[in-house]
Amino acid sequence: MAADDTNHQMWEKLGIDLAKHDQLLGVLPTIYKQVYVDSQQNRPKGMGFFEFVIGDVHGIRIKELVQAKADGKMIVGTFCLYVPDEIIVALDGVSIGLCGGTNFSNYAIEGVLPTNTCALIKSALGFGFGKICPYYAIADILVGETTCDGKKKAWEVLAKNKAVYVMETPQLKGRTQARTHFIDELKALVKQLEDVSGKRLTAEKLRDAMEKISKKRAQLRRVYETRKANPPPISGKDSLLVSQIAFYDDPDRQIEMVGKLADECEERVGKGEGVVPKDTKRILLSGTPQAVPNWKLHDIVETSGGVIVCEETCTGTRYFESTYELKGDTVDELLERIADRYLGINCACFSPNTARTDDIVRLAREYNVDGVLLYTLSFCDPYQYEAVSLENDLKKAGIKVLSINTDYASEDAGQIKTRVEAFLETLQ
Ligand code: SF4
Ligand code: SF4
Repeated sequence: MAADDTNHQMWEKLGIDLAKHDQLLGVLPTIYKQVYVDSQQNRPKGMGFFEFVIGDVHGIRIKELVQAKADGKMIVGTFCLYVPDEIIVALDGVSIGLCGGTNFSNYAIEGVLPTNTCALIKSALGFGFGKICPYYAIADILVGETTCDGKKKAWEVLAKNKAVYVMETPQLKGRTQARTHFIDELKALVKQLEDVSGKRLTAEKLRDAMEKISKKRAQLRRVYETRKANPPPISGKDSLLVSQIAFYDDPDRQIEMVGKLADECEERVGKGEGVVPKDTKRILLSGTPQAVPNWKLHDIVETSGGVIVCEETCTGTRYFESTYELKGDTVDELLERIADRYLGINCACFSPNTARTDDIVRLAREYNVDGVLLYTLSFCDPYQYEAVSLENDLKKAGIKVLSINTDYASEDAGQIKTRVEAFLETLQ
C-alpha cells in the first residue's frame, strides 16, 4: 500500500476532514518551496533533515504518536511556553505545541470566535474545529493557560470540542505570592497529568526529563550562538524553521539533529562561510511567537536584502534562554527550579515586564544588529502595548526600530516589503 493511502487511513481514523486536509497539504509544499528553496542559496546541509520533517508534517510524526498512544503514552497539546514540557515528558508523555501559523483554518471558527481575535488563536482553534490537524485530534488533553485574555476565553470555546485543562499563570512578576501560586499551579498540573497518564511523577523521572529538555534547548542555543557571526552561517528563515519543529518533534531526535546542525554552523563560522554576503544588514525580530508556517516577515526581510540574526520571541530566544540547575531531591524542590526558570521568561502578558526591554537591548548588542523589527499580530493587546514603549526605549538606547503590525494574510505583504526596504536603507 502506498504511503499516501496509509496516511489517509490513519487520518481518517483520527476523524480528520480529508478533503480539507488534502487542500492544506496541497498548498504547503508550494509555499515552502517559494520561501525556502527558491529564495535561498548555500544553506547548511543539516537543513535537509528539517526540510524532510516539514515536508511530511502530518505523516511520520503522527505515525509515531499513534504508536506512542498504543504503547500507553499520553499525548498533551499545549499553546504556550509556560506549560512545562519537563512535566509531560517525566510522566512518559509527549508534548506537542499546537499554535497555528496560517489563516487557512479561519473558515472553521466563523461564528465561533469574534473576528477581532489574534491570528494565532484563530488559526489554532480553526485547526481543531475544522478537523484538519491530526496533532490536535490525537491529543488526549489540551493544556491551556491564563496568559492573555484571548487565550483565557478561547479555552472555554475549545472545551466544547476537546478535553481541556487550564493552568493559572500569574499576571504579575517579582512577587513572592505569584511564585508560590505558580508552584501550586504546577503541582495541580502534575496531579491532572498523573490522572490522565495513569503514572506517578517521581523526582528521578522529573530530573531525567529536565536534563533531556535542557539538552534540547542547549542545542538550539548553540545554533543561535553561531548567528552572531558576520556573515551568519544560517538564515533567519532556517533558524525559525528549526525552532518551530522543536515544538512537536521527538526531543531525543532534536538533540541529535539540532546538535548536528550546530556542529555544521560552527564549522561554517570557523571557515567564514555565510548564507549571505558579509555585512548584510542584520535584524533582530522581537514580538509574538511565529508558529508553522508563519514565515511571512522572515521571508520579507530576507528577500529585501537583510538577514534576521536573532528572534526575541517564544519561537526564538524565549524558548531556550532561561535555564535551571539540575538540583533537588524531591519533586517539590524540582518544581521550584522549574517555576523559577519559567518565571524568567519575559512574555508581554506579564506586568511589569521591563526585563524584556533589557533582553532586547542586550540581544541587539550581542548579535551586533543594525536594527530591530518589532512584530505584533493584530488584536494582540499585550505585545501591541509593549511595542509602543519598546519603540521609545530602544530609540533612546540608540537602536533603530521598525514596528510592524500584521496578521497571516498575504494582502499587506507588498506594503510591508516597501517599509522594510526603506528601513534597511536607513541602516548604516
Ligand atoms: S507569547 Fe507569552 S502567552 Fe504566548 S506562548 Fe509565549 S509565553 Fe506563552
Ligand atoms: S499573539 Fe497575543 S493575543 Fe495572540 S495568543 Fe499570543 S499573546 Fe494572546
